[in-house]
Amino acid sequence: AAKEAGRNTYQYYSQDALAKIQRKLEIEHALLGAIEREEFTLAYQPLMHAENDQPPAIEALLRWHRPGIGYCSPAEFIPIAEKCGEIVRIGDWVLAEACRQAAAWDAAGLEFDRVAVNVSAVQLRDRGFAERVIDICHAHGWPPQRLELELTESALIRDTDVLRHCFDVLERHGVPLAVDDFGTGFSNLHYLNRFPVGRLKIDRSFVQGMLHDAGTAEVTQAIVHLGHALGMKVVAEGVETEQEEAMLRRQGCDEIQGYLYSRPLAPRDLALWLKQGLQTPPRESYVAVTQS
Ligand code: C2E
Ligand code: MG
Ligand code: MG
Ligand code: MG
Repeated sequence: AAKEAGRNTYQYYSQDALAKIQRKLEIEHALLGAIEREEFTLAYQPLMHAENDQPPAIEALLRWHRPGIGYCSPAEFIPIAEKCGEIVRIGDWVLAEACRQAAAWDAAGLEFDRVAVNVSAVQLRDRGFAERVIDICHAHGWPPQRLELELTESALIRDTDVLRHCFDVLERHGVPLAVDDFGTGFSNLHYLNRFPVGRLKIDRSFVQGMLHDAGTAEVTQAIVHLGHALGMKVVAEGVETEQEEAMLRRQGCDEIQGYLYSRPLAPRDLALWLKQGLQTPPRESYVAVTQS
């Protein structure tokens, strides 16, 4: 009987692994041409100032709705797009769309500080990336100084000529850089001095743990101190409760982002909220563009 159970278990896992591979292949296949089929959209989530009512910054988050199949989360498809290289084209689309939208909102008189776009390590390594970023800004009439790129620590651990050139170009044009999910990578911190990083985004996992665990609260406080000592701003992401917000403010965090203020919203809904001067928080009637 034990042998029997063992064999079944083995079969179960191998089928499971097979299904996962099949799903990855299917996603990879579906990613090709997704831009042309106009299956991508951007959702926008504000980053609020912790200290005053200055206009918020806005982060663009990629959304993929496949007709007949539905929503697929970026956490699932971005790694696949990175592996097959399609992320370079998709990333260019994201940059262009975010700049186009930001310029349109600005022209309509909406007030916000900057638009932030997530950029993967694979995009940074692509030769000519920085030049394309600047070209895209110019093409859409959006100032590079108001386009922030959010990078992960893993994108910054290796100091290559391509990367150095990339950051030189971006710095020359004043493109702000943020380190996303800060604290989750296992890199040394040399890159903070080597590259022109202006902002640290404390990873959501620390924010989620800080009320329940004194050690985690020490970590967020240490990140705020570290960032400020290096002349950077510090942002907390994934803030869901007023208690978390209060503690982060006490710790000196500069900007707060999370469901507490707003989920990622469809462009229309974010514009409406900005227009109302952020008076009322987004309500139920707003279409949240999150998981299906
Ligand atoms: P991220 O850049 O760290 O974005 C934060 C993620 O947390 C987003 O998930 C957002 O919807 C979610 N979030 C925001 N506030 C809260 C909160 O209060 N509570 C909780 N539980 N979650 C919150 P999303 O949109 O599914 O994106 C996941 C990740 O996919 C992003 O993490 C980013 O790394 C990546 N991603 C998204 N769009 C792009 C893109 O255009 N390019 C690249 N390369 N990566 C992207
Ligand atoms: Mg981000
Ligand atoms: Mg993040
Ligand atoms: Mg994160």
